[in-house]
Amino acid sequence: MVIYKSSCHPVDIPSLDIFSFLFTANDQNTTISHDRPLLIDAVSGKSFSYAQVRSLSLKLAAGWKKNVGLKKGQVVAVFAPNQHDHAILYFSLLAAGCTISPGNPSYTEDEFNHQVHTSGATTIVTVPSLLPVLTKVADKNGISKHNMFVFGDQQVDHARCLSQVASSNEELAYPDTSIDPENDLAFIMFSSGTTGVAKGVMLSHSNFVSQVLSVMTFEKEDGAIGESDIMLAFLPFYHIFGLTTLILRAVYALTPVVIMEKFDLERYCQLIQKYKVTVAPLVPPIAVLLAKSPIVPNYDLTSLRMITSGAAPLGKEHIEQLHKRIKATVRQGYGLSESTSGFIYQSVKSGDVGATGRLVSHAVVKLVDPDDNEMGDDQPGELLLKGPFQMKGYINNKKANDETFTSDGWMRTGDVAKFDSKTQEFYIVDRIKELIKYKGLQVAPAELESLLMGHDKVADSCVVGVYDAAQATELPRAYVVLAATVKPSDALAQELLDYVSGKVVSHKKLRGGIRFVDAIPKSPSGKILRREIKDWIKKEEERA
Ligand code: AMP
Repeated sequence: MVIYKSSCHPVDIPSLDIFSFLFTANDQNTTISHDRPLLIDAVSGKSFSYAQVRSLSLKLAAGWKKNVGLKKGQVVAVFAPNQHDHAILYFSLLAAGCTISPGNPSYTEDEFNHQVHTSGATTIVTVPSLLPVLTKVADKNGISKHNMFVFGDQQVDHARCLSQVASSNEELAYPDTSIDPENDLAFIMFSSGTTGVAKGVMLSHSNFVSQVLSVMTFEKEDGAIGESDIMLAFLPFYHIFGLTTLILRAVYALTPVVIMEKFDLERYCQLIQKYKVTVAPLVPPIAVLLAKSPIVPNYDLTSLRMITSGAAPLGKEHIEQLHKRIKATVRQGYGLSESTSGFIYQSVKSGDVGATGRLVSHAVVKLVDPDDNEMGDDQPGELLLKGPFQMKGYINNKKANDETFTSDGWMRTGDVAKFDSKTQEFYIVDRIKELIKYKGLQVAPAELESLLMGHDKVADSCVVGVYDAAQATELPRAYVVLAATVKPSDALAQELLDYVSGKVVSHKKLRGGIRFVDAIPKSPSGKILRREIKDWIKKEEERA
């Protein structure tokens, strides 16, 4: 058996819910004051300290229970760009025993509906601009208008604001021993997994507690974190990378975080300079912007000491370009929503440029070929994971769970990795699942294919990712077979692009274009042979 285990010390993982773990049992040996600013709003400069986050979260939690009547186990969908008090909302709901399903605020009505319906949400928290569309979604799902809330201090129509919910000064009595950390769900994230459309990823309190501890153990042993660090947050708090890195681990380590609502390069550079930001978690396209944009040299970014790129692969040449300009350590981290975020990180001390890294504490993996034979060092194979941060499964989806978990409990990632015997690091070398990543965000080909098939001029389709090196991201491209009497034309390609754009959130648009073909290659059982289409792409690139 070739099984790879973390070389970190396996720390004890306490059986605690997230709130208790972060706020009542956070016994790290630190000199950092609980009154130092922890969450800092990039726009207003206002901040909350760790002590304030704790207290405000418990007041809001008391309001959820007493003023709204939320009960343990209820699912609350949260659709909002990063807010200054986002973490407080999350902690209040967790302390109240609820499950959070966070989602992209730019979704279309159908996409919101899919998440609300699949997660079984009975309450929605959002921002005022999204109220009209989310009220329609709430209606469709039988959610009362009284169970819709908005961030901030102003009630908007029927939606009460968070400060009304937390109307009294009373804090919820804590700890709540009724939460079962191993089995109660803290978050339901959304991911398409290895195949099909977005599914609800069930993550328990223990999944997060073990994730935070496993990564922090790795970071501490590696010397990757320091008490004087400060991070800049533009990664969305609805994605697992932003949630674990910029909320949970930041609060655990009491690392201040400057919160941006959305990314803007000039603003990003200004904020690094102003706050002397030391640690920057980001995604590959932002690494490329930092390496190349003429805006960057106008700012003093010398405070940056570590850049961690995740959510998609960052190529060696991009790392080298970035390093030339910014003298920080540039490293990669790898993980999935299904693994409660990263479990392979590069060391800040040593590491090969372009490698993905080493296993964090408690991570156990193996690599297998298509027949599930175990691969050894220097042989690529699909990466399978076991670890306490492995998801509980996809909600109400036995078929997807059967496909994702082996009978002996390994979780398939759909990514191909190799363990290099010389560098002793893992390298993610390929992706065999259908998933496309546009700038770190998921695009499920099955969703776009089903939309295209709903167009009366389309007989068949396949959507794949085409890598764009200049932007360091994949772009979704559709291969389309037209209905019998329809002729291909540029106008029709544009019509189909517009049709899809009108139905999906921006990151799922067919930015890689449309190609008309005679047939989609399929196996005898009707499964699309995506590899063959990837070969077409290679040939097209060679011809260009
Ligand atoms: P998500 O659940 O949205 O975080 O997507 C997880 C997927 O993103 C993984 O299964 C990989 O395909 C991809 N991914 C994340 N981090 C990396 C990385 N450092 N290198 C290569 N692929 C990555």
